[in-house]
Amino acid sequence: MLREEDPPLPIAPSAWLTIAMMALLFLFGCAVGSHLNVCIWRLPRGLSTGDPARSICPHCRHPIRWYDNIPLVSFFVLGRRCRDCGAPISWRYPVVEGLTGALFALIYLRQGVQAGTDVGQIAVMMVVVSVLIVASGIDLEFLIIPDEISVFGIIGGLLAGLLLPQLHVGVESYHTYEGLTRSANLDGLIASAIGALGGGGLIFVLAIVGYLIFRQEALGFGDVKLMAMVGAFFGWKVVLVAFFFSPFLGMLYGLPLLLGKDEHIMPYGPFLAMGTAFALVFRTELCSFLEPLEQLARLLTG
Ligand SMILES: [Zn+2]
Repeated sequence: MLREEDPPLPIAPSAWLTIAMMALLFLFGCAVGSHLNVCIWRLPRGLSTGDPARSICPHCRHPIRWYDNIPLVSFFVLGRRCRDCGAPISWRYPVVEGLTGALFALIYLRQGVQAGTDVGQIAVMMVVVSVLIVASGIDLEFLIIPDEISVFGIIGGLLAGLLLPQLHVGVESYHTYEGLTRSANLDGLIASAIGALGGGGLIFVLAIVGYLIFRQEALGFGDVKLMAMVGAFFGWKVVLVAFFFSPFLGMLYGLPLLLGKDEHIMPYGPFLAMGTAFALVFRTELCSFLEPLEQLARLLTG
């Protein structure tokens, strides 16, 4: 507490540090996003993500010069066209780069600075957000989410639960379990497994309900595995929050298509991914809404 005679605090010097860190993380995220674009293009085509190491133009296959491969900037400098063949460059490139940068900066601000989340969890959030961006980019184009992403993601989530149990175990509202065994790491692994089964199971049940109501597949098994991955990393609550917000995000994309009476199969993975990113940035606040549900569960299970 400040006492009367204390001099007023200057604008906290840490505010400048926060802004500088956000700017750095934005630039870092843009660079990561540039690589995510490579993964979005190469993974579904069965190509190695590391070979060739240099990016190539998808149209003329000419290697892209380093000064034409600057995230966000090059797209506009080149006038949205390949320097060699003049083929248009997809808007996906700057969107993925800018989105990755913005999410990295936001996660740092909301989780690192404001919620006091530790560095390990923030790093995991940034990795998972990156994975979700790749899954979304592929789903938008091919209407599939490759198992290389979701199945390895579930395994990665279980490992993260074991090695970073603070993702699941503790007193914060987003935590699901306080302590099941005498080992925090074991608790983390168990909570992660429950998150994978609970999160994946939730989407699975909703997929079946959706199919029975609409008589067409709204959610696929790829979505189930994707959210099992999210549950393994962050617990079932984040999955539930993400699922709750995803239809609102989906409507922004789907309504114009519906109004245009354009029969269109809509990938749902990107909206689950957006819901997840939203749930991660505001994790504490959003998950605390689920507290009454949890108390009810405790009452019922004694
Ligand atoms: Zn080209």
